[in-house]
Amino acid sequence: MLDYLIVGQGLAGSLLAWELMERGKKRVLVVDNEDPHAASRVAAGLINPVTGQRLVKTQSVDIFLPVAVSYYEQLEAAFNCRFYHSKPLLRLFRTDSELERYKERRRDPEYSSYLGEMFMPGMADEPVNDENGGFVQLQTGYVDVSLLLEKIGLYLVENDAYLSSGFDTRTVSWSESALSWNQYNARHLIFCDGASAVVNPVFAWLPFQPAKGDVLTLKSSEYVPNNIISDGHWVLPVEKPHCKVGATFHWQWQSLQPQENDRQELLDAYRRITNDEAANVADHATGIRSTTKDKYAFLGRHPDNPNISIFNGFGSKGGLTLPFYVQHYTKHLLEDAMLLDNVNINRFDVTNSPVTVARRIMAKHLEPDDIAIDATMGNGYDTLLLASCVGSRGAVLSFDIQDEALENTEQLLTQFGQREQVQLIKLGHEQMSDVIPEELKQTVSVISFNLGYLPGSDKKTVTHAPTTMIAMTKALNYLRPGGVMVVVGYPGHDGGREELDAVRAFSQKLPSEIFGVKRFVCGTDLDTAPQLYLFRLSAR
Ligand code: SAH
Repeated sequence: MLDYLIVGQGLAGSLLAWELMERGKKRVLVVDNEDPHAASRVAAGLINPVTGQRLVKTQSVDIFLPVAVSYYEQLEAAFNCRFYHSKPLLRLFRTDSELERYKERRRDPEYSSYLGEMFMPGMADEPVNDENGGFVQLQTGYVDVSLLLEKIGLYLVENDAYLSSGFDTRTVSWSESALSWNQYNARHLIFCDGASAVVNPVFAWLPFQPAKGDVLTLKSSEYVPNNIISDGHWVLPVEKPHCKVGATFHWQWQSLQPQENDRQELLDAYRRITNDEAANVADHATGIRSTTKDKYAFLGRHPDNPNISIFNGFGSKGGLTLPFYVQHYTKHLLEDAMLLDNVNINRFDVTNSPVTVARRIMAKHLEPDDIAIDATMGNGYDTLLLASCVGSRGAVLSFDIQDEALENTEQLLTQFGQREQVQLIKLGHEQMSDVIPEELKQTVSVISFNLGYLPGSDKKTVTHAPTTMIAMTKALNYLRPGGVMVVVGYPGHDGGREELDAVRAFSQKLPSEIFGVKRFVCGTDLDTAPQLYLFRLSAR
């Protein structure tokens, strides 16, 4: 019997496995599918406490950084090699406002240990393009993530704690206190599966927001910098004569194959920063960062099963924050210590995030091969969730009346490999019975209504009470016994209040011996609080 089965050997899974094993939990197994686009395989491991054009200090960096440095030292002693390379960073000004911002920050004692001296144009201590001047950043460096993954990987292999394999959550079965997967039994399952969590039904309902990023490795006969240099993009000297250049940032992408425009963006940045034309591209890597919508990591146990948990969503600051969170999470797992509120996934409760709760309920009611309906496609996040839960042999019928919604959803589904099982239907949901075959009556497991306007649009097109009522009435005919219809409505916009009143009246008219109805008012201010309705057709 394993104590911990960990999915994913990125930086999060590696450090967590290491920490658990060091603390005496010897029976750990890490499963990894060795995806070349996993963020940790691509990441340059840059550690930079003060970032962005506005030179903002990372929250809690005063805590994270010393913990990280001493943690990597400990690992260095254990593995007898170097993981953390402390290196100053030359920050080049691009605009006058950055200079002004620097001066302001320099006066702020909070920043004093991170900001060094300014240099005038032409005065940087290496031949970079400093035509606007710049300043030296302190307490910067990088973690050699690939070496760390390699060393911990070997350690795991030697301790019989590594398995190279994909992990399909649908093949896990549960008994009272343990799970079994293939020939393994384990007491606790931890997902450190990076951006692929978006299509893994267990935690896909959480508000992830992955971002694609590229890093080039360059080799130059002319010049290898001594410092890290940044003007927004960064150049990081690694083993001579190589340096890395990064990073691009995209919310949307067509392909994970390295793209010419990204390569050009990074080459241009390198040339702009260094004035060196002699570099050749030795490697071009593309990865998906597991960033989250609220920018905080996801830690905690699954609300329906405390023996499944998540340790994910560290985004591009993982090298800096993981040593702290690994110890924090281990304390939670072994000693039941409380998790910090800002990273605990219980922050997505019905009051703070009715949409997330609605998504969790939907995921819970879906099995592979099921059929689901998204009556309000919008930007496609719910359609993507439904599609991931039903899998490639299931089906999702998704409705919207705006081209923009169909385009965004198509993009999102394609990006995460879930396009096949979805029908994108440009039609008002009040007409759904015109296109849904008769045979689908009483077969659909989950129906979603997320009312209101398309997020990010001009907000002019909204759902309306009369058509919403027709659609909800029709939709219920498709529900299978035990299936659920989840409705989230908002009173804040024009007509929103009327619509919610109509949903309420609708819910009260349903025969209560056939439909279980639950209503949550998500907040205390009734004028603005969204409402979540759950309709469940009795299993009979
Ligand atoms: N679930 C979405 C958000 C939905 S926003 C997400 O996760 O992003 C509501 C959507 O309903 C809008 O895109 C709007 O165009 C659409 N809509 C408005 N009236 C509609 C109708 N009669 N039939 C179907 N969709 C409609």
